[in-house]
Amino acid sequence: MEDSFKHKGMRKKLIEELRYFGITEERVLDAMMKIPRHFFLDLAFVEQAYSNVAFQIGVGQTISHPRTVAYQTQLLNPQRGQKILEIGTGSGYQTSVLCEMGARVYSMERQKELFIKSRKIISQLGYTPKLFFGDGYKGMPSYAPYDGIIVTCGAPFIPEALVEQLKPGGKMIIPVGEGAKQIMHQVTKNPDGTLQVDQFGEFSFVPMLEKVAK
Ligand code: SAH
Repeated sequence: MEDSFKHKGMRKKLIEELRYFGITEERVLDAMMKIPRHFFLDLAFVEQAYSNVAFQIGVGQTISHPRTVAYQTQLLNPQRGQKILEIGTGSGYQTSVLCEMGARVYSMERQKELFIKSRKIISQLGYTPKLFFGDGYKGMPSYAPYDGIIVTCGAPFIPEALVEQLKPGGKMIIPVGEGAKQIMHQVTKNPDGTLQVDQFGEFSFVPMLEKVAK
């Protein structure tokens, strides 16, 4: 697939929109400027790739809004070399943003088809996260603890297994709520193991579902 001047121009416009929305972290904006988001979508829908809308990626799932990706990534603020667990690989776009920022990324997806599709595109872009087909409610204990966890589907509650897999001093960004809207939560694990929970704005995610789908 091609990344033309036109695509780069559309990306530049998107970045300006993200700044307008209040995204200030240059490392996030740089990564999003660099990654050809349209590679993650169907060829036919290149025009929509850079508008601030969610988008179908097959089996009823969506690639998150660019604004949502930017917002969650800014809250997570992953540093180079940090271990980050992502729940909901989906299109692989958010995964790629985290890789571009230098994080060591572990990402889980419960839909077999998306797991296969996203693996291909992520490796075409040259990123090397560890990708797993599995149920994010359980997390990935064999690689724990993580410096950060980012959940990219709407969770009905904060899964205990994920809290356990967070390093002391680490944080989890998770949209919590059932139905159409979720509230963005930041769960920080204090060095003594206690939790601090902060809430941010309303977002709309596809639901975090139980068990894998083959
Ligand atoms: N980060 C993705 C967002 C995709 S939408 C992107 O940038 O495109 C959310 C994804 O979460 C969907 O692909 C959905 O299948 C997945 N998901 C839902 N419940 C899950 C679970 N329990 N474990 C892992 N993935 C899950």
